[in-house]
Amino acid sequence: MKYDNETLEQINNQADLVSYAQDVFDLTPRGNDYFTHCPFHEDKTPSLSFSRSANSFYCFSCGISGKMIGFLMKFEKLSFEEAVQKASRLANIDLNSLCHSETISFLRNYRRTLQSCKQQTKYEHPILPKSDYTKFKQTEIKQWLDEGIEQEVMDLFEIRFDDYGNRIVYPVYDINGNLINIKGRTLYDNYKQLGLTKYMNYYKVGVMDYFQGLNITLPYVRQEREIIVFESIKSVMKAYGWGYRNSVSAEKHTLTPEQIKLLLSLKVDIVLAYDSDVDYFHGATYENIEVLRRLTNVYIITDKYKLLGGSKAKNSPVDCDLDVWEELYYDKRKVV
Ligand SMILES: [Zn+2]
Repeated sequence: MKYDNETLEQINNQADLVSYAQDVFDLTPRGNDYFTHCPFHEDKTPSLSFSRSANSFYCFSCGISGKMIGFLMKFEKLSFEEAVQKASRLANIDLNSLCHSETISFLRNYRRTLQSCKQQTKYEHPILPKSDYTKFKQTEIKQWLDEGIEQEVMDLFEIRFDDYGNRIVYPVYDINGNLINIKGRTLYDNYKQLGLTKYMNYYKVGVMDYFQGLNITLPYVRQEREIIVFESIKSVMKAYGWGYRNSVSAEKHTLTPEQIKLLLSLKVDIVLAYDSDVDYFHGATYENIEVLRRLTNVYIITDKYKLLGGSKAKNSPVDCDLDVWEELYYDKRKVV
């Protein structure tokens, strides 16, 4: 059977997820939520939360989230159809009375699509209260100190630690300096077996119209009339400690149209300093460069002499020592 979004939303909203969870798990109330050990991976501290107000679930460890239908599919291993049927029973909703003719469904979906298109073009990141970030612990991050990132630089970039999730965390700001997300890097070596991702965002990302670190490095970008784009905030911090303060992190090696717009608006030269496994002349990375080079000077840093260990090593240009970085930086090549 086909269900329109409104029907599914109504079922998800009306089925009481907390009382379902109470029947299945031992729940511990904390604040407005209820916690239990996440059944989807090894979970030392109870990470899975159920919110009564949002009627939803979220795991602070693996990031899985959703509502009733999604939970049934994942936890009871039901098919979509089975989960909808079960959730509608839990919600006391008679599906037959809800299912509309295809035409009505189509019109509803069409209206929704139009609405969401409108919303998307003006999507703004929710601005988070500073306390959402400052609740995390300020502590020595040994792993990153060992990698040569200076403590003062980590303090400047507000690196903290999430005890609960065992993650190094850092704040994400928009161009105006508003806190819009929190990003975490797991410290579990066996994160893959645990079903975790290496990096995770604590909140919905939405449009990628920002660069990590730019809130701090913008004055240096303007001063040097150049922006160095790395793949990670770790690289930005390492370069910063070496005196190369005009860099940002794209968090990946492809740019969104919004990021390209932002880069061009700075009216500076662009140096792409991606990891040693990136091929600048393929796919979306190549398309990015093709757009940028028509409008500004674009340079790329490549590991042609395998100073970083070549593509297999997947090293950032700053992962080896300062000499290597400077050799790569001065050897950067202009794309014409
Ligand atoms: Zn989990």
